[in-house]
Amino acid sequence: MGKRAIIIGAGIGGLASAIALRKVGYSVQVFERTAEVRGIGSGLSLWSNAMWALYVLGVSDEVLRLGSVVDITRSQTADGEVLSDVHVGTIARKLGVPTVCIHRADLHQILLRAAGPEHIQTSVPCVGFTQDSHGVTALLENGIHARADLLIAADGIHSVIRRQLIGPEEPRYSGYTCYRSVVSFVHRSMPPGVALTALGHGVEFGLFPCGMGRVYWFATHNQPAAQPDSPLGRKGDCLAAFAGFSEPFIQVLHATPESAILRHDVYDRTPLSHWGEGRVTLLGDASHPMTPNLGQGACMAIEDAVVLAHCLRSEPDVAVALRSYEAARRERTALMTTRSLYAGKILTLEDGVLSWLRDRLMQSKLGESQAESVLEKLLAYQVPQL
Ligand SMILES: Cc1cc2nc3c(=O)[nH]c(=O)nc-3n(C[C@H](O)[C@H](O)[C@H](O)COP(=O)(O)OP(=O)(O)OC[C@H]3O[C@@H](n4cnc5c(N)ncnc54)[C@H](O)[C@@H]3O)c2cc1C
Repeated sequence: MGKRAIIIGAGIGGLASAIALRKVGYSVQVFERTAEVRGIGSGLSLWSNAMWALYVLGVSDEVLRLGSVVDITRSQTADGEVLSDVHVGTIARKLGVPTVCIHRADLHQILLRAAGPEHIQTSVPCVGFTQDSHGVTALLENGIHARADLLIAADGIHSVIRRQLIGPEEPRYSGYTCYRSVVSFVHRSMPPGVALTALGHGVEFGLFPCGMGRVYWFATHNQPAAQPDSPLGRKGDCLAAFAGFSEPFIQVLHATPESAILRHDVYDRTPLSHWGEGRVTLLGDASHPMTPNLGQGACMAIEDAVVLAHCLRSEPDVAVALRSYEAARRERTALMTTRSLYAGKILTLEDGVLSWLRDRLMQSKLGESQAESVLEKLLAYQVPQL
């Protein structure tokens, strides 16, 4: 009988793992806590490194068809002065793989179809696991126990499997909350392929075309954790926080219905020096949740999935294969977590003098070329073929 894997969580990491493991001959069972497998109503940047991994998984053409290729990320001040243009398209042409922004719901549908919906059971929260020398058992809330050769916990930042393996620890609050939405929007100051970000004092606003005439926008605002929306509502709160921002930022807020605006406080966790035990491992946000400032959290989950499948194909002993996957992912995911955290601190500076200095550095030729060369190094990583 072939080897069997249990995957906890049908987010991007869980679905990508299901596709990758099936490619290397595993049969998979995915258990998802919610009633439906779907991406929430916002966008996602899939940088060249993730698009390569999606190519290895056989779904990059569909992603390209539904998303928008990003050629330039332009940073500007709140009143519209351009600070820098990072030529993502030039990097992509060197690497031979584009960077794409897509609606999360579209990516979820693509991954779900490729993973095979028949392998996924919804409304089945996992509460823990037990393991012995012959296999691992997932303990499910419905009282049923599922048995397999290995268990991959892709159950997100609040992973129950992580808590069982590592113990309780609070995630780290970034200092800002994030509003997001996707809306049909066309504006003369958004040429095709250009993603815009505007920086203020303790606020940042990004606009990314995400396919089919839609724009994904995100807006961060420094504040303590767990603040309720004000009586103005999310749209009113954003209009107040970003008052004075140039076109098209205010226009996109006006074009977005209140009910379509999501809001999440942003957290990450300190990188782990090890994770996993025996036949159990963590993947995606369960192991390395990061702030979204580099737009790489989901990209890392997709890379994880391919590297994990590669290790399982190369090494017959499941526990040895899982440890070699963890070793292969530790440094890269820790680097992304740390860089994202620092990028966030710089992008959300409140102090007027420090943010002026940041803006001048970004505007300099040196700043622009450094940003491009750092980005190229991060995007040049290519997972192995399966
Ligand atoms: C504001 C913001 C913007 C971002 N932008 C980007 C971006 O542009 N690009 C990018 O690459 N990343 C981005 N990210 C990060 C990205 O969203 C995450 O890294 C990614 O969603 C992680 O995927 P995952 O599958 O590991 O976890 P999740 O998406 O959290 O999925 C976990 C799944 O497990 C399920 N689950 C949880 N507990 C259980 C349980 N006990 N039993 C069964 N199922 C369970 C959940 O319901 C969920 O379906 C952003 C994050 C934020 C907050």
